[in-house]
Amino acid sequence: MSQTVKFYLAGEWTEGTGDEAIEVTSPVTGENLATVPLASPADIDRAVLAARMAADEMRHWSAFERADLCLRIASAIEPLVEEIARIQTLEQGKPYHAESLADIEEANQYFYNAAEDVKRLFGEVIPTSDRNKRMFTFHRPVGVWAAITPWNFPVTIPLEYVGPGLATGNAVIVKPPEFTSLALLKLAEAFDEAGVPKGAVSIIPGGSRVGEALVTHDGVDAIGFTGSSATGRRIIAQMGIKRSIMEMSGNGPTIVTGDADLEAAASLAVYGAYYNAGQVCCATERVIVLDEVHEEFVDLAVKAAVAARLGDPFDEATTMGPLNNEPTAAKMDRQIEDARRLGAEVLVGGGRAGGFPTDLYYDFTIVDNVAEDSALSQEESFGPVLPVLRAGDDAEAVAIANRSRLGLQAAVFTQSLSKAFWYADRIRSGTVVINDSTDFWETFQPFGGAAGTDTGWGRGRIAEFTDLQTVVFDVGSPE
Ligand code: NAD
Repeated sequence: MSQTVKFYLAGEWTEGTGDEAIEVTSPVTGENLATVPLASPADIDRAVLAARMAADEMRHWSAFERADLCLRIASAIEPLVEEIARIQTLEQGKPYHAESLADIEEANQYFYNAAEDVKRLFGEVIPTSDRNKRMFTFHRPVGVWAAITPWNFPVTIPLEYVGPGLATGNAVIVKPPEFTSLALLKLAEAFDEAGVPKGAVSIIPGGSRVGEALVTHDGVDAIGFTGSSATGRRIIAQMGIKRSIMEMSGNGPTIVTGDADLEAAASLAVYGAYYNAGQVCCATERVIVLDEVHEEFVDLAVKAAVAARLGDPFDEATTMGPLNNEPTAAKMDRQIEDARRLGAEVLVGGGRAGGFPTDLYYDFTIVDNVAEDSALSQEESFGPVLPVLRAGDDAEAVAIANRSRLGLQAAVFTQSLSKAFWYADRIRSGTVVINDSTDFWETFQPFGGAAGTDTGWGRGRIAEFTDLQTVVFDVGSPE
């Protein structure tokens, strides 16, 4: 039964003072899950003020005290994991056993990592020209962060900001999308349990109105944005002089070279395209296959497609649930239609699957001979599709990869060490993975966009949550 949820503002659970609310519908069952109230401008001001007060207090804590707080949060998350994972599956659609559980089991890792990293975040002692001067640098907290996050990893992405943010003495106001905020709000119970200072974390669900109010707010010092490049562009234009970490769209290619282990390449490319129903920034959005191995690769990929088992995401056998929302499904429809029109061949799937409670269950799809200028190749699909493009040689494969402005995470399959580095040296992408899926991920890996692309900046390292302050001390001379 639907209920009105409370959001987490300045350490309190509240419905806020606004008069807007949205109904959250499950992509899995089509049922109404909850009514989520949207924060009013006054609520946002209150969150920012409380965040400022908490940040002013926490900047004086030692790194070890903040690390302890992170460890307490990690412990408080553990008993909630199954419940949070269940809610996440219901609101987001990802399979409970195959993905959601592991996703939430990873949640406390962001706090463990931050607790370790902050204790080793040293400043420097810098030599000076004047023999009486001593010069030091200190990592100071930036202050109040607004973390604007997407719906594909509704819990873990916000924690990529909250963990290192708190560890370095910042306050973080998270704005998840209004239709995937329920699991994160459940996790916020761990902040209460762990004794997070009031206001150091707030979770305020909402859409662009709430997001804009935060990014333009004078009391917000820094923006952590994970989302599409289109929204990122608007935020950059609006936010004014604020620090930022921008994590944006990807169109990561997998390149399959002539000497690749084709079986591994095929199954990992398929996995990279169906994991989280393709709704991952580093999903395998395109495979660029060398002509000489194209036919064999495609045969193997079609066989490997059985691993994508679409179904009820609470069923243990299911490896792929529904898409999260209608705009994503409609984008898939449009891109596949466009690819067909330009001569591509749909080998597997190709549309929505019937017989499910909602219209968001999409068949895993493989499309061969995709034209480079088709929407399926040019745009991020964010759906369960493996578009196959062809290249005559290695130089052409790199050229195709680099013509995209969305080089976030690429993969290359080759058994030659020198060829692996030849590619890594040339692909314009934030990360290059050799012989694994583009979806390869570790919670501590420097991850982010590449210069000269539309993928963003900041690679999630703890120092980015701090401001380097230089202190110069004239020690004088005893005489
Ligand atoms: P989106 O850009 O539509 O929304 C992201 C967030 O921005 C949401 O919270 C949304 O409410 C908010 N928002 C929208 N308009 C805003 C505005 N004008 N001002 C402030 N906030 C605003 O993205 P999405 O559809 O939620 O997520 C999918 C996108 O995120 C994909 O492009 C994907 O590649 C990207 N993504 C990137 C990473 C990464 O680490 N690089 C990780 C996950 C997702």
